[in-house]
Amino acid sequence: MTMPQADASSDKEPEMELSTIALEINIAGETIGFQVTLPAGPATWEHLLPFMRSLVKVGSDISQEYFTEKGLPISCKAGCGICCRQRVPIAEFEAHRLRRLVESMPEPRRTQIIERFREADRRVSEAGLNVLYDNNEAVSIEEMTRRSGSYFRLMIPCPFLENESCSIYEERPLKCREYLVTSPAENCAEPETQPVRGLPLPLSVYMTTLFLGEDADNPGIRWVPLNQLMSWTDSHEPEPASRTGPELLHEFMSKLAQPKQ
Ligand code: SF4
Repeated sequence: MTMPQADASSDKEPEMELSTIALEINIAGETIGFQVTLPAGPATWEHLLPFMRSLVKVGSDISQEYFTEKGLPISCKAGCGICCRQRVPIAEFEAHRLRRLVESMPEPRRTQIIERFREADRRVSEAGLNVLYDNNEAVSIEEMTRRSGSYFRLMIPCPFLENESCSIYEERPLKCREYLVTSPAENCAEPETQPVRGLPLPLSVYMTTLFLGEDADNPGIRWVPLNQLMSWTDSHEPEPASRTGPELLHEFMSKLAQPKQ
């Protein structure tokens, strides 16, 4: 079945030569058409972000419809922000984008948000958990999960969480877009003793982004904890645009199709 196309045009800089690529992707048995507009010349992973978000939305909608029909609707609701105390892994390009977002905020909001990041850094450091993470080191998914469990027990709210709701909803990371549960909302506060049933998704777009820097010389995933993005971007520059938009799209689609271990 062909559904309406998802227009996944990238953010476009003026006077940039663009290339529009039509894709058909099988998602949970449905063939979905996408039009992806990207720089024809040098591009970065951030140029693919609108397409990535479209993929998450389509996959999530299909899955929600399926599980709702099975009697397992989503239990996430506005004002329920316990999951925003988890260590949220984001891709490096998302960290740089969110840094720019914070820097563009009007005062005093910018300073308030930066203070929350500093407080998160302080508490992570106090708990000795900062030494568990060094983004110059690629890690396995199992190791990432182990580190994240220790972090959740600290109950540090995401600096963007306000009144238990996301204050940057339109710009929230891919992981936040993919994280939905069908188990009772109160179980999310006690994941070690209560069952938390995540919504299964036909594609894991966020996980694919963590593999984008992987190659034979550099196996493993690379990620930045959302709560540490300010300190991380202080010491890491954005990657230069060294490949074209179509080349990046080709790599992303190849990695999307690969099983993640
Ligand atoms: S970015 Fe928004 S949705 Fe994601 S953890 Fe922070 S407050 Fe929650």
